Amino acid sequence: MTATLHPEPLAFKPSTHGPIRDERLSEIASKVAQGQRLSLQDGELLFTTPDIWTVCELADTVRRRLHGDTAFYNINRHLNYSNVCALSCKFCEFYRKKDEPGSYTRDMEYVKNQVREAIENGATEMHSVGGLHPYLPFSYYTDLVSTIRDTARELGSELHVKAYTAVEIVHLAKIAKVYKADDRTFGIRWVLEKLKQAGLGSLPGGGAEVFDDRVHDEAYKGKIRSDVWLDVHRVAHDLGLNTNATILYGHIEQRHDRLVHMDMLRRAQDRALAKMGYEGIRHQASGISENAAPTSGHLGYSGDEGAEVPVITLTRPNTPLPEHIAFGSSPNAECRMPNATAPSSGYFQTIIPLPFFPDGSELEHLPGPAGLENLRTLAIARLMLDNFPHVKAFWIMQTLPMAQLMLQSGADDIDGTVVWYDITKVGGSSTHQEVNVWTLQKAIREAGFKPIERDTLYRRVEREGKSWRPAAS
Ligand code: SF4
Repeated sequence: MTATLHPEPLAFKPSTHGPIRDERLSEIASKVAQGQRLSLQDGELLFTTPDIWTVCELADTVRRRLHGDTAFYNINRHLNYSNVCALSCKFCEFYRKKDEPGSYTRDMEYVKNQVREAIENGATEMHSVGGLHPYLPFSYYTDLVSTIRDTARELGSELHVKAYTAVEIVHLAKIAKVYKADDRTFGIRWVLEKLKQAGLGSLPGGGAEVFDDRVHDEAYKGKIRSDVWLDVHRVAHDLGLNTNATILYGHIEQRHDRLVHMDMLRRAQDRALAKMGYEGIRHQASGISENAAPTSGHLGYSGDEGAEVPVITLTRPNTPLPEHIAFGSSPNAECRMPNATAPSSGYFQTIIPLPFFPDGSELEHLPGPAGLENLRTLAIARLMLDNFPHVKAFWIMQTLPMAQLMLQSGADDIDGTVVWYDITKVGGSSTHQEVNVWTLQKAIREAGFKPIERDTLYRRVEREGKSWRPAAS
């Protein structure tokens, strides 16, 4: 990406098309205009105000400051390698027990065919996740990654392999018998190094759900807790792997839990960016200290260790995004990189808010979130996660029409062509969920933005038919 994605900040204009105006938002609007970090108390007001359109416009102000009139999509494929899972999370309709009707585990011939189809259709990314299979050997997972990479190369192309959520990474460490409860970083690092050698390019953001112990114990007990999830991503960043983050909302959590989740991610990203050499704006810390401490959940991951980390807000006017640093452009004075060496560490690229779908899950009796709640949650994610470069409206779960609205309310990315997605079947639809590039571009243009094809690392794609390469800058 280029510096043209950082136009001058737009002046805040209060909503003119909503029926309700809430003057209490003026202080938040002032903070947004100056690029200051919002507190949890600010987040509570954003969730409870009836003036949702001002919330969306504030988020739009931030996304335009970061990305102008650009909106991203990619050409990708999802490959769910197995739905066999040792766990039974209450919100999950995807998992099956081994030998249960509908259970499957893909072999490498299947994977190769998927890669061939992906290359044939110009894909740049293979996104692969699955259940926690109790019997597959560790070698299956490295084989999966190297098979995707090597098959693509045999066809004269490249596929970025984004694979395995943090939950799966810990599961792999246990399968490989390298997971130590008293030094969990050891096993996580061991697994990630092996996967990176096999061709892993980045980690998806799944498995985070909501960082709250009560919700965890009620809805997905047995899964890793927030501290371990954050550990996996911290180690991945240390190894130079970029990652994403999700929040699965609208089930048994409270809105406050969502804010705490966002705050924990924000702190983890502060640490990742500080390791890359970003200097934060320390005086802003005083603006959040009275409200920022989580009241539930725990940060407590191994990288925390009580060290003071500066508040780093990428959403300040003219603050450089990590991509700019990667390409060597000079940062401005407000958010400087004192160690202007090429970064070897990774960071969170994007937050992906995921609405809970009750159908077919053990929580089927719950209503799940509706449209305006989805819109509001995404807009608030954009406003609270001021150090995340991107916010994704994942059209598969939000629907394409809603993704268009979200592009006008904080999102800058709608994901890709997808094709097969087994995890959630929206409205009982089949797992074949494909849109073509023309449809994605049309949706973006209709929303008032300029569609840009990106690769997994948010570099612009230069394409000639099926051949592609990331733009140099
Ligand atoms: S959410 Fe993941 S870990 Fe939980 S049951 Fe479903 S596949 Fe298994």
